[in-house]
Amino acid sequence: MEDCNKIWNVLLLEISNKISTVSYDMWFNSLEPLTIAHNKLILVAKLKSTKNTINSNYRNIILDEIKKLNSYVDDFIIITPEEIPVYENQLQEDKKEKETVENYSFFDNNFTFDKFVVGQSNQIVYVAANAVAKQPGTLHNPLFIYGGVGLGKTHIMHAIGNEILKHNKKAKILYCTTEQFVNDFIDSIRNNKDNNEQNRKFREKYRNVDILMLDDIQFLAGKTGTQEALFHTFNDLYQYKKQIVLSSDRHPKELTFLEERLQSRFASGLTVDISTPDLETRIAILQKKAFFKNVNLPIEVVYFIAERFDSNIRELEGALQKVIFYCQLVGKEPDNIEIIKEALKDDIDVTTHILSIDTIVDATCSYYNVKKQEIIGKKKLKQIAYARQVAIYLINDMLGVPLATIGSYFGGRDHTTIIYARDKIEEQSKTDNMLANQIKDIKNMIQKR
Ligand code: ADP
Ligand code: MG
Repeated sequence: MEDCNKIWNVLLLEISNKISTVSYDMWFNSLEPLTIAHNKLILVAKLKSTKNTINSNYRNIILDEIKKLNSYVDDFIIITPEEIPVYENQLQEDKKEKETVENYSFFDNNFTFDKFVVGQSNQIVYVAANAVAKQPGTLHNPLFIYGGVGLGKTHIMHAIGNEILKHNKKAKILYCTTEQFVNDFIDSIRNNKDNNEQNRKFREKYRNVDILMLDDIQFLAGKTGTQEALFHTFNDLYQYKKQIVLSSDRHPKELTFLEERLQSRFASGLTVDISTPDLETRIAILQKKAFFKNVNLPIEVVYFIAERFDSNIRELEGALQKVIFYCQLVGKEPDNIEIIKEALKDDIDVTTHILSIDTIVDATCSYYNVKKQEIIGKKKLKQIAYARQVAIYLINDMLGVPLATIGSYFGGRDHTTIIYARDKIEEQSKTDNMLANQIKDIKNMIQKR
């Protein structure tokens, strides 16, 4: 039983802090946890003398620690190897439990709700998935998530699994790819000889669950047999109010290869879509990923990457990974655009300039002959502040990105500062010819690049 090892490891750690190393090594090191029977942790000591010593000298220490655990275990017994057969029945049961547990899924702990950045593109999916994790089977059944590749469908499904398991370790959650489901189904009908046995296994695996998550069901195309099996599985689970979560690259209505009855089942719960993330969300994702990878990226580098990988989060992440790898290789820090361009030269076209915040800032800087670091930074020198305001005006005018995004580019300035700068330049350029011409010049410069 896996609990038994876990509990014993925690106890050992606590006990090792309470007694001398010598006694610990002498008496505790060789103990092996066997199982848990009637709320008692069963430990095996190789020698009778160990058993006796622990019982007479350490019983209370161990009991104290057991109580602190607050688990269903409330006592322990030490046995010698000859006594193991007494627990044969319990051990058989442990084995059975282990076998059935193996049917359920383990979830990637990188894919949690915590690590999922929420923006306009995925907010609805996030809220719906959270609700399903809190009350599986009751609110939205099935939950159908659709959207393009690399936008977070699998992440969110794992997050549901992780979240439910956090509150209920015994929840029977099965996540599987559609490929796996198809393969299992094919296995279940392949061997005529032990057809029944295989069939039973398939049904047991997919119908004895509290939550079934099937990823990428567009791969059911052309698999009529599997569709039929899924139809029955679906009905069975649904009838018992078991949660079903499905993902696909398109809306159920567009899964035209599906039998109609399946299509309408899939769309009968809540259908939510995940779309491509806007710049702000991509920036936040990149920053979060960099944080978890312990990498420091200056804001202009974050922008540079986020502006160029705009359709797929997996690729955005891949770009970050590549940058990190490249920088390690050449022994440099990813702290300027030049090194990023080198790292990503195969993935982005560094010769043609895309119209981005960065391009506008670069052009403004060179026009006014100020440094980028200064314009992004806090300096209040008149010349720098002026260039900064013009840049802010131009970004708003030419790109229309949200004020908060502009603010975070300029070292976390709040949006009132941004509004002030934009309005000031806009007003002034109506009467100040020189400024109006400067703006025209910079725009020309940008467009010619
Ligand atoms: P899909 O299943 O839709 O093809 P994935 O769930 O595999 O996409 O996501 C691809 C990568 O992008 C994963 O590493 C995932 O962690 C990451 N990702 C996607 N959306 C987000 C998000 N909102 N926040 C953080 N990471 C995300
Ligand atoms: Mg996926």
